[in-house]
Amino acid sequence: MEDCIFCKIIKGEIPSHKVYEDENVLAFLDINPFVVGHTLVIPKKHAKWVWDLEEPDYFALMQKVKTVAEALRKTFNTEWVGEGIIGVDVPHAHVQIMPRRADDGLGGFPAQRLSPKPTDEELNKVAEKIKVSLN
Ligand code: 5GP
Ligand code: ZN
Repeated sequence: MEDCIFCKIIKGEIPSHKVYEDENVLAFLDINPFVVGHTLVIPKKHAKWVWDLEEPDYFALMQKVKTVAEALRKTFNTEWVGEGIIGVDVPHAHVQIMPRRADDGLGGFPAQRLSPKPTDEELNKVAEKIKVSLN
């Protein structure tokens, strides 16, 4: 998809803070996160909705969502990682995962994005920490 922002991220035409990549799946930090460590896991093959993926591709994506979620648990020392599939902003299938804490005061699904937005340098540091947990 020519003008899909996530396809451009996959192709490296737009920078991102990657935490995991293989042949079929990419995980990178959300640029405007609800929480520190807010990560997007996407299939490399363009599909508008996760429900458009063929079953094997859907399961392969979800397997990697679990892998990255486990890394978030380890990195942020929490058992709670929220998962959301919304899809109103970017028409490329993506699963959002967010490390949470019982005392973070954000409710079931956070409504407020982090303010101020994290800088590139801050996002880089977070991505590096998550990558360590994935090794
Ligand atoms: P949704 O489509 O599920 O409603 O939300 C899309 C998510 O993608 C949002 O949380 C938004 O902050 C994130 N997002 C949108 N554009 C970019 C981008 O160019 N880079 C990154 N890393 N995240 C993005
Ligand atoms: Zn795309």
